Amino acid sequence: MDEFGLIEEFFTRPAHRPEVVLGIGDDAALLALAGAADTLAVTTDTLVEGVHFSRSAPAFDVGYKALAVNVSDLAAMGARPLAFFLNLALPAADAEWLAGFRDGLFALADAVGLDLIGGDTVRGPLAVTITALGTVAPGAALRRDGARPGDRVYVSGLLGEAALGFLLRGGRLSLPSQFQESVLARLDRPWPRIHEGQALVGIASAAIDISDGLVADLGHLLKASGVGARLNIRRLPLSDAYAAARPAVGYDPALVFGDDYELCFTVPPARVQALAGLASRLPCGVRDIGEIVAGAGLTLHDGEGVYTPSRAGYNHFDDPGSL
Ligand code: ADP
Ligand code: MG
Repeated sequence: MDEFGLIEEFFTRPAHRPEVVLGIGDDAALLALAGAADTLAVTTDTLVEGVHFSRSAPAFDVGYKALAVNVSDLAAMGARPLAFFLNLALPAADAEWLAGFRDGLFALADAVGLDLIGGDTVRGPLAVTITALGTVAPGAALRRDGARPGDRVYVSGLLGEAALGFLLRGGRLSLPSQFQESVLARLDRPWPRIHEGQALVGIASAAIDISDGLVADLGHLLKASGVGARLNIRRLPLSDAYAAARPAVGYDPALVFGDDYELCFTVPPARVQALAGLASRLPCGVRDIGEIVAGAGLTLHDGEGVYTPSRAGYNHFDDPGSL
């Protein structure tokens, strides 16, 4: 049983409260409270030492990234950041570590405008859970289930940077020195596409953030929308660093590793022009990588033939695959 089969079998059930506009299965849940002008978007994520970060990771980066992965889920809904809760399990009260963690956490919180409004602190193996709240106009949220055949598929920014950072740190990749700092920064301190997500409201028909890899996360969007997609891997947005690494690593780090926290979204043909007009609000750039088709499943091709990646993507409880 993999992570998603587990959630589906044991925890997924229909919501009964009328306030629950959207429950389990998207980047955030949506709650519409009676009389409120905005809908609340709520998301939560946990980072565990030894799984999501190593013991040697700087505390600043742990604090930053724990919040970044949640902000990225708000971005994928097109939500505006509001506030967050912080739940900490700590093996010891290490003041130096806590100061670094706090600095990383609040650096991002201040940059995106999130207030810390509560949490819980307990002794235990190091783990960080953050629950983030955002707001979005009623009916405006970017959901996973809105893609339709004929829509174009886009990704923001660059793919595979975090994967290169991971391979580099693990000694499994050599990269020219001018590229090393940027790929490690992309792995340790991803910048969530919060402004881009809000800019895409009214333009994108569906969206998801890329936490587990493009193939896996677009797969969730396709399943939720009941459609398939056809992508050209030669159109993937790859950096100069990636171009230098590609002879050694191929396309898979950009397709199946994850941790990039870019947005993958779909746009109906009638709104592609409007997307082009948004360029100034999307400084990271967006790239058309393919199209939504009728049916199910994702087909990758390289312009000549079908391409099959080495594995689907990151999945807790899955057999560990090679990158
Ligand atoms: P994301 O990567 O966007 O954070 P996940 O892949 O972690 O989302 O989770 C997929 C969906 O399943 C989300 O809607 C999440 O809230 C929900 N989910 C995950 N674990 C549980 C659980 N134990 N109980 C209920 N819902 C869960
Ligand atoms: Mg997500």
